[in-house]
Amino acid sequence: MRFDLITIFPEFFTGPLDHGIVRRAREAGIVEVQVQDLRAFTQDRHRTVDDRPFGGGAGMVLKPEPLFEAAESLLGQSVGDATKQSAPDPKTAIVLMSAAGKRFDQETARGYAQLERIIFICGRYEGVDERVAEHLATEEISIGDFVLSGGELPALLVIDAVTRLLPGALGNEASSQNESFGGTAKTESETDRRAEGTSHQSRVTNHVLLDFPHYTRPAEFRGWKVPEVLIGGNHAEVAKWRSAAALEKTRRNRPDLLPPSGK
Ligand code: SAH
Repeated sequence: MRFDLITIFPEFFTGPLDHGIVRRAREAGIVEVQVQDLRAFTQDRHRTVDDRPFGGGAGMVLKPEPLFEAAESLLGQSVGDATKQSAPDPKTAIVLMSAAGKRFDQETARGYAQLERIIFICGRYEGVDERVAEHLATEEISIGDFVLSGGELPALLVIDAVTRLLPGALGNEASSQNESFGGTAKTESETDRRAEGTSHQSRVTNHVLLDFPHYTRPAEFRGWKVPEVLIGGNHAEVAKWRSAAALEKTRRNRPDLLPPSGK
């Protein structure tokens, strides 16, 4: 999987990609990350990437030309123009980070994990000329209902979520299937594995729950005890407790994930 980031702050990405699972995935060659400085794709002396908005109003808008040219240089081909637009490669996503985009979630991450390449366009200022969303990006993605000052953090978040789903990235292959938002369409064999007690997640009919609570030593910390059942070593009882605890936690923190009757 290759990730490309188009940004006016290329230095932003030194650090966040150098730790833990993402670092290991890079070192193992599971993912490759390349950062493109948007200003390298400007043609003028001042390396201008932004301009004032048509129609007036506050703030600046990222110009379309450098963004198209940066993406085209990565793709190795032109996306075309209003008279003729070339068809996008189905294995490559061009993702515009945008507070006004579709909400990113685990299902989107699973879809992205099937791709060969993702090119991220990181907005700044008031945002990006809409023709980028309409004619360059294959999707426009928001990481949540809040407004940040740039698309760099959102892009990093997507890279992290997608990387840990790639085969080999987690070390323990099973673990990403068994987390919060683990997956909706379970196959028979996965269901069987769950029944054997390796499951980290319980489900009510088709609804995905949050992860169950985890505990480690000490068994008693400042007088707060780990639930007795987890120490007992009875796998069936542990599995039962985890299902119930996951459901309880989902009810408490994310009742919207449950069917109306489950609340
Ligand atoms: N005027 C825009 C916000 C611009 S914020 C609006 O009201 O929708 C500047 C840039 O930050 C955006 O272009 C986008 O790339 C990024 N950004 C801000 N919030 C984001 C979010 N929730 N998800 C993804 N990207 C976001």
